Amino acid sequence: MEFRLEQKRQVVTEIPGPKSKAFQADREKYVSNSIGSSLPGYIEAADGAILRDVDGNQFIDFGSGIGVTTVGNSNPKVVKAVQDAAAAGTHLQINTAPYGSYIELCKRLTELTPGDFPKKAALFNTGAEALENAVKIARKYTGRQAIVVFEHAFHGRTNLTMAMTAKAAPYKIGFGPFAPEVYRMPLSYPFRDPEGMTGEEAAKRTITMIEKQIGAENVAAIILEPVVGEGGFIVPADGFMSSLVKFAKDNGIVYVSDEVQSGMARTGKWFASEWSGIEPDLITSAKGLGGGMPISAVIGRAEIMDAPQPGGIGGTYSGNPVSNASALATIEAYEEENLLDAALRIEEIFREMLEPVVAEVGIVGEIRGRGAMLAIEFVQDGSKEPNAAVVKQIVDDALAQGAMFLTCGTYGNVIRLLPPLVMTEELLRDGLQVLIDAIRKAAA
Ligand SMILES: *Cc1c(COP(=O)(O)O)cnc(C)c1O
Repeated sequence: MEFRLEQKRQVVTEIPGPKSKAFQADREKYVSNSIGSSLPGYIEAADGAILRDVDGNQFIDFGSGIGVTTVGNSNPKVVKAVQDAAAAGTHLQINTAPYGSYIELCKRLTELTPGDFPKKAALFNTGAEALENAVKIARKYTGRQAIVVFEHAFHGRTNLTMAMTAKAAPYKIGFGPFAPEVYRMPLSYPFRDPEGMTGEEAAKRTITMIEKQIGAENVAAIILEPVVGEGGFIVPADGFMSSLVKFAKDNGIVYVSDEVQSGMARTGKWFASEWSGIEPDLITSAKGLGGGMPISAVIGRAEIMDAPQPGGIGGTYSGNPVSNASALATIEAYEEENLLDAALRIEEIFREMLEPVVAEVGIVGEIRGRGAMLAIEFVQDGSKEPNAAVVKQIVDDALAQGAMFLTCGTYGNVIRLLPPLVMTEELLRDGLQVLIDAIRKAAA
């Protein structure tokens, strides 16, 4: 693959440098303090797995803009498709004057999602919007109201999705009242569940609580991330999701897999649900779908997708033609550049390099994840007590060396890796070595 920017980290000024500091000063005057940033440098160019700031520093991008530029930042196929689509029409509106790319993208998504049954799709702009619409569709289809979500869940920042999101700080504090009929149930979190608890046992705990506290006949949808994202990159135990899917099926409940972060090649499969052998009734997709352009989708069983009345679902910008073209080119790039395999290769190298560190230092509780959705959970030496302080120290240390890592987790004690799948092996190993050196230093 050809890149415009050399795929190499490079620190040439203090961070932030003088030009970034000037942006920061204006930001303090003109931008709401409620908008946060991880990186103190201001980016002027991004390519592949490199972010270059206005002072000429180059950072290895282990975040992909929160799992968005999975196909690589400014992937040439995506850039070309966006340019051509914009030149042909910047905005077309499906409810007024329809166009082909909307149909083509829905067709591709029904082909890529798991399940050999008739499927349909609808397009939106953001992850939260996809979740909002999945709830509307499930409620209309079932004629029921209750929505089951889980501990550690993240589903967005709109009013309904705030209610569905677990973590109070920073997502919910002071923003209530929240939408009613949203019920939070226990997750399967192998590192923190009782020793030896199986996925089936964890599911039974959840199902009993649904039956006792809500009543299965009142539940419209069960909504779960197959790899729980913001909550800590938690991989539920085998058997947890398949048991919930069976329970949903037996009780006329719509099972929704929120694959906004885990979907679209990220875990080495098109959708992470495939790792658990489940076929969700509905799947929500966003982040890695658009190659950087805002686009999201709900895809699922045709009879469920057809339940809402015409005009009941949609929006002014939903399925914008430039975003559709970008998504179609992104899908092509995943295929032609063998990026699902690249995700698996990233996991192999991560495990090869990190496993010895887990054995060596007391502050790493566990490494986990699937494909290129990987995490390290930090604890107080030798215990399971979350250690958020050490995470901040490690991430700051790596950043000073030119490698950017994001954090997550209900307890803020997890470093997560969401590298673009086009990251070269050399850059990946270099970035992981920076991380390992920072972990060793923090553990000493
Ligand atoms: C990011 C995310 C969302 C919300 O997406 P936005 O585009 O930020 O609204 C929903 N669900 C999951 C699993 C996410 O990771």
